[in-house]
Amino acid sequence: MSASPADPAGPAPAGGIVTRLGVRRVINGATTLTALGGSLMPEPVLEAMRQAAGSFVDMHELQRAAGRHLAELTRNQDACVVASCAAGLCIATLACITGGDPQKIARLPAGFGLPTEIVIHRSHRIPYDRAIELAGGRIVEYGGPLVTHGSELEAAIGERTAAVLHVAGTHLGQGAPPLETVIEIARRHGVPVLVDAAAQLPPPSNLWRFTVDLGADLALFSGGKGLRGPQASGLVTGRSDLIEACRANLSPHQRLARAMKVGKEEIAGLVRAVELYLATDHQAEAAHLRGVCDRWAGTLSDLRGVAITVEATNEAGQPLPRVRLDLGPEAACDAATLASRLWEDDPRVAVLAGPGRVWLTPELLGAGEAELVASRIRRVLA
Ligand SMILES: *Cc1c(COP(=O)(O)O)cnc(C)c1O
Repeated sequence: MSASPADPAGPAPAGGIVTRLGVRRVINGATTLTALGGSLMPEPVLEAMRQAAGSFVDMHELQRAAGRHLAELTRNQDACVVASCAAGLCIATLACITGGDPQKIARLPAGFGLPTEIVIHRSHRIPYDRAIELAGGRIVEYGGPLVTHGSELEAAIGERTAAVLHVAGTHLGQGAPPLETVIEIARRHGVPVLVDAAAQLPPPSNLWRFTVDLGADLALFSGGKGLRGPQASGLVTGRSDLIEACRANLSPHQRLARAMKVGKEEIAGLVRAVELYLATDHQAEAAHLRGVCDRWAGTLSDLRGVAITVEATNEAGQPLPRVRLDLGPEAACDAATLASRLWEDDPRVAVLAGPGRVWLTPELLGAGEAELVASRIRRVLA
């Protein structure tokens, strides 16, 4: 089961460049945070990157062939590999504004006379959406924080609309219409719908759910989160003409998205990562992770002032179990202190913390690391 996310990519690289630079290793009990390095690539992904690094290739041909294969794997019309999901937001915006027409591409990012507006529900504003502005897109917000009627989306769509962006995930602010409604309205106006699904894997079916099942025009995923591909990779899937328009903006062309180059190594690594991801038994994986959580709950159950709950889903609503520690007034310290004591040790231990709470997530831990996290927590709280 080399594709299992709980299977470490290999032993900690003692004496590696990171150590030589004096940088501490991090044990990731938090989530696939870019600030921690995202995720760990399985050995076959590293091997695919190593092989791709060994020879020259026609990059146009590689990008097209990889796209065809990724489209088949994910049941989509077409796909392309980009440098990250944020780069995907930029490139999808370029594609929707220009349709891949080189003359229109040359008019960006100023974009005079081009449809440059990307419509987003107010609760879907995310820090990454600045990537849209990088492409010359202008963000137009619609909706309020509580209830939004379809008519508000209708009113936000106009002559200058290039696309509607919907951000997937249950962790976002409430009030946005469901994706089905967004697609129905946008389609009536002939405007494409982009779905930012960066961290929405698992379940693997999301690779085709937003586009093939629900009818969105493009879906965007991080390569370096749930897929465990290269950190600097992302996947865009969907409508063939729009993917073609993405490629028209991408490196190796000397156009705007050249600043977000993907190399042959990232393309090969992401292809291998998607193959492995789809071959993984995600149910067995979830059962394994549930076992880790149950063991944590058992080991930590006697800590004073700490209530322990095993949750079935993570912060983004994905089917990944985690353990929540609620620290009461009887506990040896508060949640923020616990998180910072874990972080300041060597190796660092990263956990997610909120007011009065700390969460432990198992899916990014290597062999023996779940036990280490538990013993560190005991050391602080016992
Ligand atoms: C992580 C994330 C991104 C950015 O993904 P990268 O691949 O790191 O660029 C964009 N959107 C959402 C919703 C995310 O969670």
